[in-house]
Amino acid sequence: MPKKTVKDLELKGKKVLVRADFNVPMKDGKISNDNRIQAALPTIKYVLEQGGKAIVFSHLGRVKTEEDKAGLSLAPVAERLGELLNKNVKFVAQTRGEELESAVDGLSEGEVLMFENTRFEDVDGKKESKNDPELGKYWASLGDVFVNDAFGTAHRAHASNVGIASNVESAAGFLVEKEINFIGGAVDEPKRPFVAILGGAKVSDKIGVIENLLSKADKVLIGGGMTYTFYKALGKGIGSSLLEEDKVSLAKELIEKAGDKLVLPVDSVVASEFSNDVETEVVEGDVPEGKMGLDVGPKTVELFAKELEGAKTVVWNGPMGVFEMSNFAKGTSDICEVLAKLDDATTIIGGGDSATAAQQLGFEDDFSHISTGGGASLEYLEGKELPGIAAISDK
Ligand code: ADP
Ligand code: MG
Repeated sequence: MPKKTVKDLELKGKKVLVRADFNVPMKDGKISNDNRIQAALPTIKYVLEQGGKAIVFSHLGRVKTEEDKAGLSLAPVAERLGELLNKNVKFVAQTRGEELESAVDGLSEGEVLMFENTRFEDVDGKKESKNDPELGKYWASLGDVFVNDAFGTAHRAHASNVGIASNVESAAGFLVEKEINFIGGAVDEPKRPFVAILGGAKVSDKIGVIENLLSKADKVLIGGGMTYTFYKALGKGIGSSLLEEDKVSLAKELIEKAGDKLVLPVDSVVASEFSNDVETEVVEGDVPEGKMGLDVGPKTVELFAKELEGAKTVVWNGPMGVFEMSNFAKGTSDICEVLAKLDDATTIIGGGDSATAAQQLGFEDDFSHISTGGGASLEYLEGKELPGIAAISDK
């Protein structure tokens, strides 16, 4: 990897700033899912084992006004982190100031401190989210080195990632390193055949991903709601399926440009309403008037399975159907199964809903990598440079 990783840093006795992604779901002041805290443990533990003094921080939610701060303190996260590390985590309820500075100065090797939600700085002029140069410089001044382990915010240039990295030696944490190796590896130097599966709701959300992956992959399989904008471009009937009228001509262009690289569904599971409580049927080709396509059908799964045979790299973004409703989850679940059975392939899921689908349908452990960053993984798949990663020191 061209960027420094935490293993490239001298950590002993150093004040190590660790930007984690602790943007955890909260309900009534309690953490409802601590996956993200668990995911940050390897990096934090490594820093402590090496004799570093860890200063950990993150954003949580969106903070616009003074009132927003109420439910968004990181105090419960600090407590949970302490339980998971089996160690006292000193929490400072500030994002800057004397109390924070003296707590940092008082740290011994192997100790952990956490400070308050970085977005509390947004109340007064969006200093965090607009990457206020003074704020990044200030946070950088609290430490000797900086480890960025927050992949979920890597597509944003904020003070707590890009701002700090611009002022002090920095490195990727283990989570960020893993994301770069898997997603970056797949997109930039894939083992071939490389097949991309793209679904989800809208073409408009995925234009960048479709275009980038059409230029890199050997096959691009399309599913989900965007199918019907492509169908429309081919003059097929789509009934009342999801359609983006203003993207039909783009879909036409993509079909012409891609030729047989682009593979569309051959059948759909349809219903008369967007509901789990109405009858469904499988139709081949055109969707009849009064019906909407809400999942790919069994022949499509068969076709996609054939296209995936022998694939060495598979990148998947966007569910094949409305997986949130059990009647329309089968296409997504069947494709998960096909991927689970591929020998010797690197299989990667990027995208928030796709990751949720794989987890909910019980395939969490069957992929080589499920990205932890929804928006960030999408931008990465679009081939965009992620500012949070670009700012990390080169090796
Ligand atoms: P990701 O978050 O993985 O990038 P998207 O946000 O693009 O994925 O798409 C996820 C959504 O697409 C899901 O909520 C799913 O219900 C919806 N979807 C999938 N297929 C269809 C369809 N045929 N019609 C309408 N919505 C669909
Ligand atoms: Mg989504």
